[in-house]
Amino acid sequence: CGIVGYAGGASPSVRPLEVVLAGLGRLEYRGYDSAGVAVVGPDGLSTAKRAGKLVNLTSALESEPLPPATAAIGHTRWATHGAPTDANAHPHRVGDLALIHNGIVENYAELKQALLADGAHFQSETDTEVVAHLLERAYTGDLTQAMRAVVDRLEGAFTLLAVHTNQPGVVVGARRNSPLVVGLGDGENFLGSDVAAFISATNRALEIGQDQIVTITGEEVRVETFAGERVEPTAFTVDWDA
Ligand code: GLU
Repeated sequence: CGIVGYAGGASPSVRPLEVVLAGLGRLEYRGYDSAGVAVVGPDGLSTAKRAGKLVNLTSALESEPLPPATAAIGHTRWATHGAPTDANAHPHRVGDLALIHNGIVENYAELKQALLADGAHFQSETDTEVVAHLLERAYTGDLTQAMRAVVDRLEGAFTLLAVHTNQPGVVVGARRNSPLVVGLGDGENFLGSDVAAFISATNRALEIGQDQIVTITGEEVRVETFAGERVEPTAFTVDWDA
């Protein structure tokens, strides 16, 4: 339902997590039934997720804090496939990779069957976890390339954000029939399903077009089509007081 991503900060800190939690708070108006985050940094990948209100997640994080990080993703879920439980909340982690998703993967059942036949173990009932398994299998060192390999196999509507332990400064996103916006910061960059996700940090933004993939680090924003052709999006200023 709501999506936030953050990359930046050469030295690991609590800022990635704080930015993502603040963004989720500003996306609460959309309605949701669960919330979760993933952070990545020198300590690897860590996730936390809870059914219910954002406060359930933030109190879990108070008793079990996540390590300092260089990038983070966060999600508020509006369940379509699988009940609103902790296990079905996003992010979905497979191996060294974590994924969040807005929308519906219409052909997930057939993809899941093939993955099960191939020995995959599922921890949730979501359509989303299928994509996490596909990405993990497609990953050979470059998350953008893995995303490119997987998106063509998906039908339906999706905004996806992924992080990987081996690329702790990177967040990769993709979208089809579901929105994704980049916020441009100074030594840091943001992703959101809506500009509300990052408006208190920056009002410079880029819209990601239909069937495009975006890769952000603290220093760089790279956009390409699902076919891998480079796109140069034009920045705009969000005319809106946070
Ligand atoms: N279809 C996914 C799920 O049920 C994502 C729902 C959403 O957009 O929040 O987990």
